[in-house]
Amino acid sequence: MSVLVIHTGGTIGMDQTDQGFAPRDGVVEGAVEELRSSGQVGGEVSLHKLTPLIDSAQARPGDWQRIAETVHAHADRFDGFVVTHGTDTLAYTSGALCLALPGLVKPVVVTGAMLPLTVEGSDGARNLKDALNIASKTRPGTWVQFAGHCLHGARVRKSHSRAFDAFEAEEWETPPLVEAQHPGLNNVTEHKVGVVSVTPGTATELIDYAASRCDGLVLRCFGSGTAPDTAEMHAALAKAHDRQVPVVAISQCPEGGMRLGTYAAGKVMRDNGVVDGRDMTVEMAFAKLQYCLSLYSSFSEQFAYLNTSHCGEFSG
Ligand code: ASP
Repeated sequence: MSVLVIHTGGTIGMDQTDQGFAPRDGVVEGAVEELRSSGQVGGEVSLHKLTPLIDSAQARPGDWQRIAETVHAHADRFDGFVVTHGTDTLAYTSGALCLALPGLVKPVVVTGAMLPLTVEGSDGARNLKDALNIASKTRPGTWVQFAGHCLHGARVRKSHSRAFDAFEAEEWETPPLVEAQHPGLNNVTEHKVGVVSVTPGTATELIDYAASRCDGLVLRCFGSGTAPDTAEMHAALAKAHDRQVPVVAISQCPEGGMRLGTYAAGKVMRDNGVVDGRDMTVEMAFAKLQYCLSLYSSFSEQFAYLNTSHCGEFSG
């Protein structure tokens, strides 16, 4: 069995500096070597470093693209892939990889750590070991291995900023890859995708501003799909619609998701071509809009892409 580790940065491979934790060369390489020489991980493990190593707060769609290209280029050579990544934007990257690699019949396991491998008591060695051990055995698709859990890459979110058990994922019905096709690579380029929350007595001007400036919009609504039903909200969403800006509505509730038809107070969205994001996470909705805008130029194709589940990113 052979696994390629794609190291991107993040706490797992950091060390203490005068400015705080920062990525350091050799940390993840050393840990992989130790896991192999102690027999905790078997088979062949190679490592590919994406330089410069970054804190994942710096990650952009171009970094998702580089990871996906690396997997795609080595898809025949390895049985599985481990991506070591910072936890802060790990859920965005795992969602992106689900969309980037259609038809890949091998597992991609994203992991990281809340404490650097260089710090005593770190969770890094355990997460790395678990990820390496499942990378060639688990089902095809993108997974997040963290604190003993293997989570669906398109459903995961960082739910705790300090605890080792920092990630959660909604129960999922569909595995990350729906069907095996020819391994493909969907290229992503960066677009202006805004994420805006409605609030009581919402500052609709902000939504109006986003509708005039963004290429795509994630609208975080109340509960199962309501928003203030005001003339200003209508005007803002109508502006997005007129500009052919795709808008995906998701719920501010971490569980349960949207049901856009439930309340009259959701009519403002239904009237303006807003896509029901069902129970998608905000991270996944953001990544999906980036891919949607990269892959399709017509509003009707974009609408169809957003309304379809490609990798189990929403249920129902
Ligand atoms: N700031 C770090 C990062 O996302 C946090 C971590 O890795 O846990 O790169």
